[in-house]
Amino acid sequence: MLEVSKRIQALAQSQTLAMSQKSNELRAAGVDVINLSVGEPDFHTPDHIKEAGKKAIDDNFSFYSPVPGFMSLRKAIAANLLATNGVEYAPEQIVVSGGAKQALCNVILSLVNPGDEVVIPTPAWVSYVEMVKLAEGVTVTVPAAIEQNFKITPEQLRAAITPRTRLVLMCSPSNPTGSVYSHAELQALVDVLKDYPEVMVLSDEIYQHINFTGSYTSMAAFPEIADRTVVINGVSKAYAMTGWRIGFMAGPLWVAKAVTKLQGQYTSGSSSIAQKAAEAAYTGSQDCVHEMCAAFRRRRDLVVELCSAIPGLKVNCPEGAFYLFPEVSSFFGKSYNGRVINNASDLAMYLLDEAHVATVDGAAFCLPGYIRLSYATSDDNIRRACARIAEALAKLK
Ligand code: PMP
Ligand code: GLU
Repeated sequence: MLEVSKRIQALAQSQTLAMSQKSNELRAAGVDVINLSVGEPDFHTPDHIKEAGKKAIDDNFSFYSPVPGFMSLRKAIAANLLATNGVEYAPEQIVVSGGAKQALCNVILSLVNPGDEVVIPTPAWVSYVEMVKLAEGVTVTVPAAIEQNFKITPEQLRAAITPRTRLVLMCSPSNPTGSVYSHAELQALVDVLKDYPEVMVLSDEIYQHINFTGSYTSMAAFPEIADRTVVINGVSKAYAMTGWRIGFMAGPLWVAKAVTKLQGQYTSGSSSIAQKAAEAAYTGSQDCVHEMCAAFRRRRDLVVELCSAIPGLKVNCPEGAFYLFPEVSSFFGKSYNGRVINNASDLAMYLLDEAHVATVDGAAFCLPGYIRLSYATSDDNIRRACARIAEALAKLK
């Protein structure tokens, strides 16, 4: 039969990208949609980084780059990780990839054997579970709802670990909730992990610099687990460079070597021009990072204030990233014009059709009963979107 592989048949489409696509189609058809679905900074890449990209073209950075990335970039990343996390890496422990997404998938494919268990606190970003599927691993979810600020407890972590556990995948600040684990909370999880020396830790720290708590601890900063922790980060969120596609892993040398082998057969080194721009991001002034973070914090305050005032939405106060993850189950069973809302997917579609606001169903992040709003958009859009959401929700009886 002419059909795609079982592997791809089993794969779900990225719901964040699908919802964003839907909203772009509606906009192209002339509908005034406010897109709170996709999570990407609305800022332009800072000028000094763009200039470095242009210069790389003029300087003929047009050849294949080394598979793990230019040495100069890996040195710049190592210096940045030392300065921000206090963790020392040799450049050989760093592999640059086509976005944090590829870096994550590289590590999962390099570490997980068929049948291995991967522990994922949920809600979690849409792609983790699908990447584990690609590796033929088994996802073990650890749910943490809004009552616990979407953060798992040490007891939950211990209960999820079995002799088959290969990997624990952490994400702080979190997509889709914006929750940030404090140093003490991470230490409590590390105290559990140190009892399981066979378990690797994959820490997605892509939102590290969009953090409103004033302090940050990388999972790799805990000596108890440092030799089995792989950190993921990149320029997409901190430097508003989603389209440049540069992310990286930093971790044990043996993992970096495995990832390099995989990437060498699969994509080769990432774009040489984008790498030179990323180098400028890491070596240049970090003022732009702080300015964008301050803007996100202001918007966080605005969206929390406006959404808290909408009857039926249950919200907490996210401490990082640019997402709000309200609980919406009070609307289930209600209807408007004969349209019944049975779950958060129905509600997200209702908000798109009725309020022309694009959000994402929480089920895509493995926690039904919620929707995700990305507030990486202008204050004006946030105000208009919240007003429209309030109006549409008030119609549900
Ligand atoms: N991890 C998380 C938690 C994300 O939200 C994203 C953004 N899509 C990524 C990884 C991937 O980032 P990149 O755009 O660098 O591939
Ligand atoms: N991080 C973004 C999101 O969650 C980008 C889309 C994606 O890559 O899934 O919306």
